[in-house]
Amino acid sequence: MVFKYVFGPITSRRLGRSLGVNNVPYKTCSYSCVYCQLGRTTNLTVERRGFYGWRDVVREVVEFTSRYGEVMDYVTFVPDGEPTLDANIGRVIEAVKAEVGVKVAVLTNASLLWLDEVRADLSGADLVSVKVDAVDEGMWRRVNRPNPSLTLGRVLEGLLEFSESYRGTLISETMLVHGLNTDPESYRGIASYLSKLSPRRAYLAVPVRPPAENYAKPPFEEELLKAYSELSKMLTPGRVELLNMPEPPPSTVYGDPATWLLNTVSVHPLRYDYAVRVLRRTVPDPEEVVEELVKKGLVLKVQYAGATYLVRNFG
Ligand code: SF4
Repeated sequence: MVFKYVFGPITSRRLGRSLGVNNVPYKTCSYSCVYCQLGRTTNLTVERRGFYGWRDVVREVVEFTSRYGEVMDYVTFVPDGEPTLDANIGRVIEAVKAEVGVKVAVLTNASLLWLDEVRADLSGADLVSVKVDAVDEGMWRRVNRPNPSLTLGRVLEGLLEFSESYRGTLISETMLVHGLNTDPESYRGIASYLSKLSPRRAYLAVPVRPPAENYAKPPFEEELLKAYSELSKMLTPGRVELLNMPEPPPSTVYGDPATWLLNTVSVHPLRYDYAVRVLRRTVPDPEEVVEELVKKGLVLKVQYAGATYLVRNFG
């Protein structure tokens, strides 16, 4: 079976081993963040729709877990865009929890949480990670480049409202981009907002994979540490964590190696050496698997921060 909607499992510091669910089409998002590792948003929208048959998505999760008997910490909605644009996300979460019995996580940009139905849809998830990159309208427009119909006040209010009623684990992620939200005014504002939101953990991240815009660079170490200390002052100690290292490499290939690699890099650019290392456990000539995909024009090799990454070529 070729999986269309699930990928991985991937290992991350935040979620342990998680099976990814890709429930929206490529770059369908309410934001077009300058640091997005998937490139510029091609469908900048706030319209919620059912993109795929929701039962098909659930069937794949069930099939994958029963076929590979993999022990997973989470089934995670981490698609090629904004997962809450999928009008079926609530019923998929409910069905996955009922049928697979694994915890469900959703990584969202939080831009639609001001909608009652989005808050209701995510209420069944065990963990929700929300993006808070700016609390100043101008900075938000520069970093996240939202759909013009959105306003920051409404987004931040909606997120606070969600945090008051949500019973699962709420965590936040703030991406720091050098020359944009790394000035003291920006991160102090974010720290103050997060102290009201009170996430279980507040993660500070930096771009570690090729970004949509070349100018989206990681902050200097000193900027990062200052932001870290400001957030730590405002939140309970121990609740702020730095995510400034690349994610750990994948450890297993599932199914056909070329399909697995293609599905994986469709959502997360992967370091070339990591891909070769893990593929070698399944095939004797991993470089050939990669080069074949590159030759077919399905995958590109991109240099970033001193390493070669494999990214999906949707062009
Ligand atoms: S980083 Fe996330 S929210 Fe931002 S454009 Fe990419 S997919 Fe959308």
